[in-house]
Amino acid sequence: MPTDPPAPPETPASENAPEPAAGVREPKKPAGTWIPLVRIGGVRIYLDPMVAVLLGLLLTASDSDSPSDMFVVAGILLGSVLLHELAHAWMARHRGLAVGGIFLHLVPYAYVERGAPQDELRVALAGPALNLILAGLLFACPAVRDGFAWTQPERWFDTPLGAAAAINLLMGVFNLVPALPADGGRALRAGLMTKTAPGTAYAWTARAGTYVGAGFLFLAVLLWPSADSFGVAVLGVFFILTAWREARAGMAERARERARARDERVG
Ligand SMILES: [Zn+2]
Repeated sequence: MPTDPPAPPETPASENAPEPAAGVREPKKPAGTWIPLVRIGGVRIYLDPMVAVLLGLLLTASDSDSPSDMFVVAGILLGSVLLHELAHAWMARHRGLAVGGIFLHLVPYAYVERGAPQDELRVALAGPALNLILAGLLFACPAVRDGFAWTQPERWFDTPLGAAAAINLLMGVFNLVPALPADGGRALRAGLMTKTAPGTAYAWTARAGTYVGAGFLFLAVLLWPSADSFGVAVLGVFFILTAWREARAGMAERARERARARDERVG
């Protein structure tokens, strides 16, 4: 999950702003209408009203034979997503960065202040790390591990604990894909920025994203005509489009870096 949206809108924090805890800075929150929910560990959770309506429609329109099972899996999924975003937010706060909250949009995200590359690296890795730790703890329990049908994905969600282990494992692994807007892409960019100029780091991250996107497109061809093929192809196109945007940002950054270098020589 992204740790911040691609283009943070400039919205004053005065309206509907969460009450900041004493001594803790609260950055502006994204534009739009948000339903404030609970505050967990000092971080306010907000819900997009459209997502609330969609969730309600999905759950009431379900023709599943066992709706209670669906509620359980949906609850585990939501809980795992929340913990993932909270890990980003808590790490950001731990590194001294301001945290605006967690926003349950169609793609949920934590809204945090950008920091030094070392801070961004840790913030990006905190989310998937928490999911992998949870998955590891769950699979360490014989009750979960022994009954888990590794070769039959359709049975992964048969038991609540198995579902929690599978969801956290998948979330952890998928978010570490080294392509933006996945956390892995953000971590790669931050890691490169500790070693090289931002423009070069952007260019390399864009390259990685293009390769990952191409890999997903190739996988879609292999999966054809399975039902998963279309979704995998959409994901591939999404990674490639995000990589192109990153490449453009990299070119702009490199132009600025060159201009700064010229300025220094003239001055
Ligand atoms: Zn994330």
